[in-house]
Amino acid sequence: MTKYDFIIIGGGIIGMTTARELALRGASVALIEKGELGKEASWAAGGILSSMRPWTENPASAELSEHGKILYPRYIESIKDETGIDPEYVNSGLIIIEAKHIADIKHWASSKCIKVKENIENINAEIKLPEKAVLLPEIAQLRPPKLIKALRKSLELLSVSLFENTEITDLATRSGRCEQVEYNGGKLSAESVIVTAGAWSKLVLGDRAVGMSIKPIHGQMMCVKPTESVLQSIILDGAHYLIPRLDGHVLIGSTMEDIGFTKETTMAAQKELQDWAASVWPQLKNATLVKHWSGLRPSTETEKPFIGLAPDFENLYLNTGHFRKGILQAPSSALLLADMLSGEPSFMDIGEFSLNRQTNEAEIV
Ligand SMILES: Cc1cc2nc3c(=O)[nH]c(=O)nc-3n(C[C@H](O)[C@H](O)[C@H](O)COP(=O)(O)OP(=O)(O)OC[C@H]3O[C@@H](n4cnc5c(N)ncnc54)[C@H](O)[C@@H]3O)c2cc1C
Repeated sequence: MTKYDFIIIGGGIIGMTTARELALRGASVALIEKGELGKEASWAAGGILSSMRPWTENPASAELSEHGKILYPRYIESIKDETGIDPEYVNSGLIIIEAKHIADIKHWASSKCIKVKENIENINAEIKLPEKAVLLPEIAQLRPPKLIKALRKSLELLSVSLFENTEITDLATRSGRCEQVEYNGGKLSAESVIVTAGAWSKLVLGDRAVGMSIKPIHGQMMCVKPTESVLQSIILDGAHYLIPRLDGHVLIGSTMEDIGFTKETTMAAQKELQDWAASVWPQLKNATLVKHWSGLRPSTETEKPFIGLAPDFENLYLNTGHFRKGILQAPSSALLLADMLSGEPSFMDIGEFSLNRQTNEAEIV
């Protein structure tokens, strides 16, 4: 049986970026996905490269997010050069319209030297912005399905072994080691195993990660085609947002539903999203609906991902629980874990994301 350096379980954006980072450092990697690569939460995402509430983000998660933002432009350039596929990274800016947070946003932005533009209510006559709305001009976005397509090609070029339609059913663990994983019909073996199974991570780990609290939070999203495309920047209003794409489509997101592993889309959610969108941009009431879909975000109690060694193991690692920031934090999370695995210093302390530490924090709260 081939013995890989790493087996990665779960082929969403986190598994794919982790596999790429390790393969670029010369490791042999197998990436195992129960369905098609990238077709769960990562496909469903809007691709906003910002936290939804950066002014309240906990410091460790904020550092991971900030480093993601710093890495992205070069990450996209290198993957574009390598594969010829353009993930449409655009510096579109983000307008925040929730009046009650504007003072906090301005305070947060000035403490971090982040640009904020005020008096933007007349930016476009068709779009109703409140007087207090502010623009963060440096926030970018990308198209997750295109990034996934590029990552798949990059992994193929790097000779990562890709196993699709292969569901891991058990981990063979003994004396603090996991050297084999079992799937429907076979076993694979590696020096180290990394779980990147998003909302399903707890199911994959079973009782091997006591205290790990990951659950799915269902998010529904719509894509519409307005007759005229006048929106340049993302608009954010609490959980809701509009994301304008380069081809004139607009995404309307999203719902936050704690309903287990169901991925059903509903007419009620469609109405909620459409009514909110029309309250900001009335033309969207009659815009053609192109698609309505959903995904399961991997949420954790502390709103921080788990990155690093699983407690009581020597070679079982986690990179999971990125909730609403998995696209933003994918390159920085992969870098942090790969630096640790290669014994190299990194841009921050990976201990901030250890499972032990987070369990203790949750108890203190
Ligand atoms: C509607 C919506 C909008 C979002 N918008 C944004 C945004 O604008 N910006 C942002 O940064 N983030 C956003 N997110 C969050 C982001 O999508 C997630 O944080 C990210 O995709 C998580 O990536 P992942 O690889 O951990 O999970 P996933 O993409 O879900 O990948 C996990 C993979 O593991 C596989 N798997 C599970 N069990 C097994 C098993 N037993 N064996 C093998 N494979 C298995 C699954 O099939 C899946 O493909 C959004 C999410 C949603 C739902």
